[in-house]
Amino acid sequence: VSGLSTVPDLAPILPNEPTPVSASQRVKACFVILVRNSDIHELRKSMREVEDRFNHKFNYPYVFLNNEPFTEEFKELASAVASGNTSYGLIPKEHWGYPSWISQQKAAETRTKMKDIIYGWSESYRHMCRYESGFFYHHPLLQQYDYYWRVEPGVKFMCDIDYDPFVYMHVNQLKYGFTISIHEYRETIPTLWETTKRFMRDHPEYVSHPNTLEWVVDQKSGDYNLCHFWSNFEIGDLAFLRSERYQAYFDYLDQAGGFFYERWGDAPVHSLAVAMFLRKDEVHWFEDIGYFHNPASNCPNDPVINRDKCHCDPTKSVHLGSWSCTKEFMALDPNSDISAKVLTVE
Ligand code: GDP
Ligand code: MN
Repeated sequence: VSGLSTVPDLAPILPNEPTPVSASQRVKACFVILVRNSDIHELRKSMREVEDRFNHKFNYPYVFLNNEPFTEEFKELASAVASGNTSYGLIPKEHWGYPSWISQQKAAETRTKMKDIIYGWSESYRHMCRYESGFFYHHPLLQQYDYYWRVEPGVKFMCDIDYDPFVYMHVNQLKYGFTISIHEYRETIPTLWETTKRFMRDHPEYVSHPNTLEWVVDQKSGDYNLCHFWSNFEIGDLAFLRSERYQAYFDYLDQAGGFFYERWGDAPVHSLAVAMFLRKDEVHWFEDIGYFHNPASNCPNDPVINRDKCHCDPTKSVHLGSWSCTKEFMALDPNSDISAKVLTVE
């Protein structure tokens, strides 16, 4: 696998136009998988599908990350499925633990109070969400890459991907790619939106114009409408996450404490960052990538694509229902900018 970025100036390619396997176009990209040793068998299912649907032709490398050292058994079983190189990283303690300003007692009380909310009781889930929000892209094993594709144990890929989504991102200057968008549970993020608005007030210089804020704001109340991209699948530009504005936003949220005093997910965090910092034309719905993460799927509705490339039920695709926010995203005006209006609402 050549790691060099040699993409020439090309006209944008369309997802359904196959790029030849021999194409010299290559970007510095990898799969990134945060995973526990105990998830190896669920992980191998995901990797098998990644390979069968896509990577057996492209051989992109995999980076595995863990807050505990990977076992020899894990490495042996994971590398046996991968057609590309594999590397195994330990997460530094500073990135998976409590920052000095967080009261661990208050964090523990929060977990008791939130015990009936999904993952509300979980301490490790909060470390995971904080890590995926603000640290994974800083891991030394990722420094050589420009793009990442997040994969989780137990997910499915149901359509052949005959082109290179990383090259597609690069050629079209896309910063963030998703398959599924849905509404978040409000109880997990009571103060995320007011904290985000405070950030925009304190740092108006970071907000892009136009932007995609309209997609996340309820027109009547001015409140967060809970729409977010599901971050268990992401194809993204690492430079976006490593940017000063993204890092400033993460640090601001981290100071506010909601990763521990509430249960802020990395999905709404990434999505609100996209909403503030990216234009619609920098964000891409990979409609053609059949994808399942319990309990939702994305499945192409085009009858020919579905018949020839997929094995999924198009009528079950979550974008057809009201839990999804993808229709609204696609309908958004590319020139939309409601940032001034957002900040007039208390
Ligand atoms: P859900 O998708 O929100 O239900 O959360 P998951 O349980 O799938 O966790 C999200 C991702 O983080 C998956 O890739 C998990 O493998 C990973 N993950 C979750 N908790 C831990 C943990 O404590 N340690 C490690 N190493 N990975 C974790
Ligand atoms: Mn998951």
